Amino acid sequence: MEYDRALPRRRPVEERVHDWLEVYEDFPVSQLKKQAARCMDCGIPFCHQGCPLGNIIPDWNDLAYRDHWRDAIDRLHATNNFPEFTGRLCPAPCEAACVLGINDDPVTIKQIEVSIIDRAWDEGWVKPEPPSVKTGKRVAVIGSGPAGLACAQQLARAGHDVTLFERDDRIGGLLRYGIPDFKMRKYHIERRMEQMEVEGVTFRPGVNIGVDVDIRELRTQFDAICLAGGATHARDLDVPGRELDGVHLAMEYLTLQNRRVAGEEIPDEQFITAEGKKVVILGGGDTGADCLGTAHRQGAEEVFQYELLPKPPAERPPENPWPTWPNIYRVSSAHEEGGIRDYSILTKRLSGENGKLKKLHGVRVEFERVDGRMEMREVPGSEFEQEVDLLLLAMGFLGPEKPGMLEQLGVELTERGNVKSDENKMTSEPGIFTAGDMTRGQSLIVWAIAEGREAAKGIDRYLMGETTLP
Ligand SMILES: Cc1cc2nc3c(=O)[nH]c(=O)nc-3n(C[C@H](O)[C@H](O)[C@H](O)COP(=O)(O)OP(=O)(O)OC[C@H]3O[C@@H](n4cnc5c(N)ncnc54)[C@H](O)[C@@H]3O)c2cc1C
Ligand code: SF4
Repeated sequence: MEYDRALPRRRPVEERVHDWLEVYEDFPVSQLKKQAARCMDCGIPFCHQGCPLGNIIPDWNDLAYRDHWRDAIDRLHATNNFPEFTGRLCPAPCEAACVLGINDDPVTIKQIEVSIIDRAWDEGWVKPEPPSVKTGKRVAVIGSGPAGLACAQQLARAGHDVTLFERDDRIGGLLRYGIPDFKMRKYHIERRMEQMEVEGVTFRPGVNIGVDVDIRELRTQFDAICLAGGATHARDLDVPGRELDGVHLAMEYLTLQNRRVAGEEIPDEQFITAEGKKVVILGGGDTGADCLGTAHRQGAEEVFQYELLPKPPAERPPENPWPTWPNIYRVSSAHEEGGIRDYSILTKRLSGENGKLKKLHGVRVEFERVDGRMEMREVPGSEFEQEVDLLLLAMGFLGPEKPGMLEQLGVELTERGNVKSDENKMTSEPGIFTAGDMTRGQSLIVWAIAEGREAAKGIDRYLMGETTLP
């Protein structure tokens, strides 16, 4: 009743588009405590349900408000291995479910979360937690995104010997090479790796399971395996002209920039840059927004972001009520930096000169509900051309890659092509478990961590007959 919702400021656009540092400024403790004071500690905290990790939000809100920071981080770590990732990157479904959000602005839960963990790192409170007893069991975790990392950390703490395999040269999955540094700097991953090494996790980057090593061979060396390889099969654009020079998948583009920021030497002829170019991004989601922020930092002449679906409403529609996740129009930090967003656009073909992309040929579409299903129709006479030098495809992901590891194993898949698992996260193959995007399809970091923890419980129970893992 006394304080309004407040968030930290974003650094000025004209400053931040010239660097790769995180966008948000620090939030003073005095202000943060006021934000924590807005939590009502309601009888039924719906935020628990909103957070896939079941974070005990009202407890740590109150501890932050009372200046008990050490207790706050213990309470937060009890359910979340990596609050510095979620506190920076989570879309905060908890806030969408906050009771205060029914008739007022919700509590700034995500900001309180990140402030608690940042303070804990600064104070030196985040320490390795090696197990007191080793079990002698060996577990391989494949894929080092948030799901694999969380699974590996939980298993190491339960006393198992854990080897984490990653086909990329560095650990982190999409946290490392998908998400740009302006959303999360990479030292956050290094710090956790150091902690996990002391806890007993062995990192094996540069090993592509199913290509460099047959997964059936791995089965003979480990007592259990967790597949956490993500949903990295990107949706491509199937139109004439796709082969032109200047059309790239978002992940090809983002990975190169992330590598450069990490100090890698990448020859200009291999690098994809937006500098001085007219850029079109296809896809209105998170990946598209990351391409947008990257293109502006590289010095694009102009950037358009096109989405096939209609523009979302500004407010929750009646069929999307509290406490569900609201599908509304959002302005991320990248959108604030410029670019033109447009909706209901279908790309028909691409054209170019001498093999180089020059134009996108599009048409506007409208959607109508027919027999309960949405049908798309082209709007007659709405065809248009857009000049473009660089086209980035950020149209989502189709699920896990099948060749290699999954085909060798022959695990059952769901109708959507994700790896099928039971309530213990075990696949159709005994002793082979799965977590994260590989079994959910492209999702969120918070879900990946939650799934990694669930898979660790399933594996511990499988190996030991019971589990005390949270
Ligand atoms: C550009 C982009 C931005 C995003 N931004 C956000 C955001 O802001 N907030 C949010 O919550 N979510 C975001 N997401 C989604 C989020 O990153 C994913 O849901 C999450 O990373 C999934 O975690 P994961 O561990 O399941 O898989 P991943 O992070 O995809 O990691 C899987 C890892 O497994 C490795 N691997 C695969 N196969 C093998 C193999 N055979 N052998 C060895 N290694 C293998 C891959 O190389 C990869 O490193 C974003 C996604 C993208 C693409
Ligand atoms: S992890 Fe995400 S949903 Fe859970 S408390 Fe943090 S911001 Fe909210």
